[in-house]
Amino acid sequence: MPDRYQQLINTPVGRIVSRQVGLPAPVELERYEPGQPVVSGPVLLGAASRSTLVAPVAGVLAAVQAEVSTPHQEEARQAAADAGLSAGIFNAEVASADQTFKALVFDASGIADSAELKQAWAFFRPTIRRVRASGRVIVLGTPPESHDRPEPAVAQRALEGLVRSIGKELRKGATAQLIYVAPGAEDQLESTVRFFLSAKSAYVSGQVVRVGDTVAALGAPLDWDRPLAGKVALVTGASRGIGESIAEVLARDGAHVVGVDVAAQAADLEAVTGRLGGSALTLDITDVDAPAAIADGLLDRHGGVDVVVHNAGITRDKTLARMTEDLWDTVISINLIAPHRIDAELFGRQAVRANGRIVLISSISGIAGNAGQANYATSKAGLIGMVQAYAPRLAERGATVNAVAPGFIETRMTAAMPIATREAGRRMNSLAQGGLPVDVAETIAWFANPASGGVNGNIVRVCGQSLIGA
Ligand code: NAP
Repeated sequence: MPDRYQQLINTPVGRIVSRQVGLPAPVELERYEPGQPVVSGPVLLGAASRSTLVAPVAGVLAAVQAEVSTPHQEEARQAAADAGLSAGIFNAEVASADQTFKALVFDASGIADSAELKQAWAFFRPTIRRVRASGRVIVLGTPPESHDRPEPAVAQRALEGLVRSIGKELRKGATAQLIYVAPGAEDQLESTVRFFLSAKSAYVSGQVVRVGDTVAALGAPLDWDRPLAGKVALVTGASRGIGESIAEVLARDGAHVVGVDVAAQAADLEAVTGRLGGSALTLDITDVDAPAAIADGLLDRHGGVDVVVHNAGITRDKTLARMTEDLWDTVISINLIAPHRIDAELFGRQAVRANGRIVLISSISGIAGNAGQANYATSKAGLIGMVQAYAPRLAERGATVNAVAPGFIETRMTAAMPIATREAGRRMNSLAQGGLPVDVAETIAWFANPASGGVNGNIVRVCGQSLIGA
């Protein structure tokens, strides 16, 4: 369903009215098109003293051929020079007001106590208003739990409040994220920095992600435009909505997509997989023999699977007092039990190849709970539990498991909501609009990237920094 409010507010008259009355003014977010550069404008790179991540980040900026400036500051200038960047100098005191940036990147890893947080304030105070439309703010830090002493742990944890506030202050579709990089994982952050700099992360904001070194580095993919070339990806519920978009994006990235859906959706499923050069598997994921049928299909035809996306999911809303046993059982068995059984079968039969990826689709309802959705929220919180329980186990097998938690995504599901609920869901986030299925799909493609081996155990909300569950 088109967002008519957004269309109206972006007319000349709409803009004047929204400014005068103080209405939310959602801008059209920039989204990725093949062939686009990772970052389409100048980047300002800064670092707190003694920071260690600025050097690998400068390497990524050099690899994506970014135009980089730094403040007049030793760590950032040295890192830029070492990466072969001919970085300009940004001096806030003399810079004209029209000097703007597509991205601000600040390495806060050297901040070792609360007083030193002021270095982050000093970097952002003169620059935050210089962020362009659909711009990016990235702060890098070290996981608080990786510190033995309380002082750096406290200061690093404090960065969450800073970044989430920046996300709420940014305008014009710009986003902010905090990336915690574990000691030893400095060489694992490229896929994550690329994702968050790019238009692929259009509807992700205010997120805290962790990059660890639990998986042996397997090197960057040869081709960042087709990182999944030669890989096989299973996507459940692929005939429409978010699942169709996931199939499209994984196929764009080079994967052979095996789409799964129920018999009633067979024609739509075959249309999707046919268009993408993939294959279709028609079955109900809750059938007793579904896990075995999926494993047979993947092993017989492809010798295994590299990426498994558990997207199929349903809602059957009723308040708990009115919720029949059937409504409870149906939602829990499709949304939670089926993914668990399928994974057990695939791992039990060694069908998931080395550097495998499991991706679950949770929901902000699973984080915040929702009146009338006790069954759905339980199932989606259970998926978060699956990520937490299995991430360490899969790391031992060289695989990862992560989840996306979408907020309000423009699909048939949200189009069917009553108008007041729909408008509240669309506007109550920092970007003041709903996301698109492709925003969920791009986040999954980042998890699926062979270079994302250090991205394990994360729950990433694709919600425009929704106030729900914040
Ligand atoms: P959708 O349009 O209803 O698509 C889901 C697909 O999965 C449908 O084709 C559905 O088929 C299929 N499916 C359902 N039960 C199945 C089963 N037992 N076996 C095989 N396939 C089955 O849903 P969507 O809006 O794209 O949502 C996709 C996922 O994102 C879900 O997990 C949902 O909970 C999650 N999510 C969505 C939003 C949102 O705003 N849309 C927000 C948060 C999370 P039939 O229904 O025709 O049987």
